[in-house]
Amino acid sequence: MIRPAAKSHCPGCGVDLESFDGPTHAYMTSSPACFELFTNVLAFEYSDAALLATHRLTVDTYAVQHPGTGGSRRQIQSVGLHLVRLCVQLASPLPPKETNDVMLGCARHKQTFVFLEPPDRFSMTVGDVAPYAGDTKHAGKVREWAARTWNDWAKHHSYIHGWIEKYMPEISPDKSFSSSTKR
Ligand SMILES: [Zn+2]
Repeated sequence: MIRPAAKSHCPGCGVDLESFDGPTHAYMTSSPACFELFTNVLAFEYSDAALLATHRLTVDTYAVQHPGTGGSRRQIQSVGLHLVRLCVQLASPLPPKETNDVMLGCARHKQTFVFLEPPDRFSMTVGDVAPYAGDTKHAGKVREWAARTWNDWAKHHSYIHGWIEKYMPEISPDKSFSSSTKR
């Protein structure tokens, strides 16, 4: 008799996958099976220079789907920084070099981030992207995943927009984020 495969539920993104015995990230809270899928997707991106911009979206999206409970400053800062990066990239994509500069600028203010209560659920997970890893739909699927995840965080959009206006106004993708900020 064949036993049904044991399932594992990811505490971050909520994806249900076949149980897998493996490592997880130091502070992004995921099931080992979910982290393994993420690692597989990354492997395709590392081996294809054309997927560099996609790679950044993958990392940001995965990070904000595995935010933890805000138990450490590291978690809180990671989620804040990745949400800012997701926001900026989706609204007005920058070349990789500029995106890096932006992140370094943002990181100088990371101690100001507060804990943001994560969404109850995510509408798309790495489990929906992994089947397309390495094929022609890879970049499109990641972009869809990133956009939907950003939407899932909608209740904190105003916080992230306000944070950008306050600390990184030069990168604000939309100057109308805050009508009170006139420069
Ligand atoms: Zn997950």
